[in-house]
Amino acid sequence: MALVAALGFSQQTAGNAQIRIEPIRGHMYLIAGAGGNIIASIGPDGVLLVDSGLAENADKVLEAINQLNREIANHGGLPTTTVIPPKPIRYIINTHLHADHTGGNEKISKAGRTITGGNVTGEFGDAAEGATVVAQQAVLDRMSQIKPALPFAALPEDTYSDEMKLSHFFNGEAVVLLHQPAAHTDGDSFVWFRGSDVIATGDIFVTTSYPFIDLQNGGSIQGELAALNRLLDLAVPEFRTEGGTLIIPGHGRICDIADVAYYRDMVTIVRDRVQDMIQKDMTLEQVKAAKPTADWDPRYGSGDRFVEAIYKSLTNPPKEAK
Ligand SMILES: [Zn+2]
Repeated sequence: MALVAALGFSQQTAGNAQIRIEPIRGHMYLIAGAGGNIIASIGPDGVLLVDSGLAENADKVLEAINQLNREIANHGGLPTTTVIPPKPIRYIINTHLHADHTGGNEKISKAGRTITGGNVTGEFGDAAEGATVVAQQAVLDRMSQIKPALPFAALPEDTYSDEMKLSHFFNGEAVVLLHQPAAHTDGDSFVWFRGSDVIATGDIFVTTSYPFIDLQNGGSIQGELAALNRLLDLAVPEFRTEGGTLIIPGHGRICDIADVAYYRDMVTIVRDRVQDMIQKDMTLEQVKAAKPTADWDPRYGSGDRFVEAIYKSLTNPPKEAK
């Protein structure tokens, strides 16, 4: 933590897009301000990113990664003239398909190759092809259908169905992807760094707004709540300290299990209120007018879109959640 603060990364990388680097724990860093949150694991095996931000911010994200790479490589008393080749970007894991989380895929995955350079190329055969983009199968299915077609390098090339782990330790720990069906979308993954005890949630969990349930892309309130409950099952608190599992939301600040519990309770209460109103045969307009989110609107803004998504999910449930 002191490393980053002392070197003033934030100031150096703050351009117009306001990119901010925050240490999470150990070799894990949060790169914020490029769209959705980007999580970086940086160490001897190279760089693994969770999500890639908006396309227009990709250069700034690369600049931030290069700075982290340089400072970490040169840490440890080496003379500043010692040139250590930067580590390649090996993986980009997409938590879901939205452009604020996948827009940087093309540029950043290609940079996985050029960043390697010199004698590092030989160590990482696949790095010569650029970083591998990994996501749940539905992310590839839906991104392949976007018109006009996305360039090949923007699409996930390695996909999974229910659960996947990287085949080997990366920077000293297991990295596990867990599919959360029909939640924010139908292709959401939690990314669990088992050694660091850090979980990236994508937009299933955000601190800045109500959950956005993307019905068009297969989301549902049932899956959203199931995913938040799964997150609470996975996470472990450490009482009376700031330790325990760290949860990195799709947007907003670094959290712990208590923050997720608060959010899950809010989502549950609003869902129950809307369910009661549906049972009283209230229309969507009547439900919205009754303001079932009023208690939290000062914190999260208008609840209309959230209420509408809950209403539609409950009156027309997705197949998996029936
Ligand atoms: Zn999203």
